[in-house]
Amino acid sequence: MMFCQKCGSVLVPGRDKDGIILKCKCGYNSRARKNVLITEEVKLGREDKIELVDKKIETLPKTKEECPKCGNNTAYFWTIQTRAADEAETRFFECTKCKNRWRVN
Ligand SMILES: [Zn+2]
Ligand SMILES: [Zn+2]
Repeated sequence: MMFCQKCGSVLVPGRDKDGIILKCKCGYNSRARKNVLITEEVKLGREDKIELVDKKIETLPKTKEECPKCGNNTAYFWTIQTRAADEAETRFFECTKCKNRWRVN
């Protein structure tokens, strides 16, 4: 049994144009709840991706980029799309010599 997130009443199964939903007499329905869950899953997926990149750093491509710490001019690089898709992606570098990491937007 599911209860309303807003008022605590028992939700009643019903149908709308998109399929089965759980409705409450106060106007709340389970479709709103579903949207929240999807947002959380996307966020988790992104964190997993960052972790994966960290673990596979030895296989990343190298580029000519000067390390701000030791002056070595070769670094591993990868890119991560931050937040909204229309924002510029962030480039990450890791020095092949001293393992210093930095980012460029
Ligand atoms: Zn309710
Ligand atoms: Zn360095």
